[in-house]
Amino acid sequence: MLQGLGINTMPIVAGCIAIDKGAIWEYFPKCDVLCPHCTMIMKLRDHALRILKRSGGEKDYVRIPRFQCNNESCPVKVIRVLPEELTPYKHYTTPTIEDALDDKLDEEETRTEDGTFSPSAKAVSCWHKWISKNETFINGFLKSVGFRYLGYGVELLKSTLHILEKLRAAGPGWLSIIQRIIYSSGSRLTP
Ligand SMILES: [Zn+2]
Repeated sequence: MLQGLGINTMPIVAGCIAIDKGAIWEYFPKCDVLCPHCTMIMKLRDHALRILKRSGGEKDYVRIPRFQCNNESCPVKVIRVLPEELTPYKHYTTPTIEDALDDKLDEEETRTEDGTFSPSAKAVSCWHKWISKNETFINGFLKSVGFRYLGYGVELLKSTLHILEKLRAAGPGWLSIIQRIIYSSGSRLTP
């Protein structure tokens, strides 16, 4: 847990299960969710409705869990917890956003029934701006995780290594990985 980097309001957890609640899917984390501020185990409180859009215009409403921190001295009260396939403040799924950023979206698949494209070229352009706006922060954050928690030396902090580029080159899943590390460590990307 990285302390002192601000409180994020939306941890992202891996391996959520989605349960069919009759026309709507409800997400449940499989493991304990720790408070991003005080690290105490949080308690499931309820679920909140959220939209989920996929390439081609298909959209669903899902329910994501809200957890509460029972530590009275902690400023965190109730927070939403996202499954790894969702990105804070974005309607499209994380794999759709990642494919768009990597220019891997199939144009035919993005075509909607009325002939427009979903995601639109404008949305994709916004995502490119979003990731480049956060690039320096992501690299610095991942280096600091490597230094503080994974035993890498101070050389890593000082190096010009572009960790984000390395992760992207390693293949699918990079956006979900970096978001999980950042959001679940008590920090966040600039929306
Ligand atoms: Zn707390």
